[in-house]
Amino acid sequence: MEITEVRVKLVEDTDDRLQAFCSITFDNSFVVRDLKVIEGTNGPFVAMPSRKMTAHCPRCHSKNHTRASYCNQCGSKLKHHVARENQDGRSKLYADIAHPINSECREMIQKNVLEEYKAELERSREPGYSSRYDEGFSPGNAKSGGPHLENRHESQATPAGEDQKNFGSGIFDN
Ligand SMILES: [Zn+2]
Repeated sequence: MEITEVRVKLVEDTDDRLQAFCSITFDNSFVVRDLKVIEGTNGPFVAMPSRKMTAHCPRCHSKNHTRASYCNQCGSKLKHHVARENQDGRSKLYADIAHPINSECREMIQKNVLEEYKAELERSREPGYSSRYDEGFSPGNAKSGGPHLENRHESQATPAGEDQKNFGSGIFDN
């Protein structure tokens, strides 16, 4: 499996640690959106797309955040769902929608996304810059047509996988 395209949407003028949203395409076939680049204490890292966990009120069955003490619909006192705890014993507020299940894949995603994030930062300083993040996806346009590949490998036709072999240590914050 190979990442054939990465798109980055920079978040401007933010005091938050959120730096950018990203989408990644696997094998020119499958797109995952809403990855995030977060500024961590050891540099930027990639967060997987996630959703806030919810629990249903036992009385009116409306959805509430898992940490809510009272139902926001009917006001019933809510019990916290003990089952939904992670290994730290803390209740889980967010659940990943899509995520790697081994460190090789995690490093591959992290490396590709952070490279493209840095390239996007460079491009954003040039006049006439606009993000491609919201453009439509069409089959077969990724490998050779992506601006991230054109910009970095202008004259020589480097296979996209080449860089990955030289990858040594990544920056992980989570
Ligand atoms: Zn309720």
